[in-house]
Amino acid sequence: MPNKHFCQGPTCHEKPTTDRFLKSRGVIRGRYAYATMDHDSEYYKRGRYFCSTACEYAWLDEHMENIEQGRPIEFIRHRRESGGYEKRTTTSDDYFGRPYTSSSIQRINGTDN
Ligand SMILES: [Zn+2]
Repeated sequence: MPNKHFCQGPTCHEKPTTDRFLKSRGVIRGRYAYATMDHDSEYYKRGRYFCSTACEYAWLDEHMENIEQGRPIEFIRHRRESGGYEKRTTTSDDYFGRPYTSSSIQRINGTDN
């Protein structure tokens, strides 16, 4: 396990991206934070806790009221995951009629995320 926290983004483990997808179990897993725990540069300190600025903003949106009210916020210490996803590959024709394939991670039996 890397010397990193898990990303504290409240929905990091629900975003269907290929790098979060674990094919063998069909799950989306939360990312590790961007930087290592001992990262001490002045630059981007928050990277010890989040994988991306999108997750930082989501965390603020989710928890700002708790901060205002003095309520504790759970620190995420285990890798969260969401089940029921699969990788789907589709083949289409491009503008010139040449076939190309694209793939995305989607919910099984569900519609696009
Ligand atoms: Zn994240």
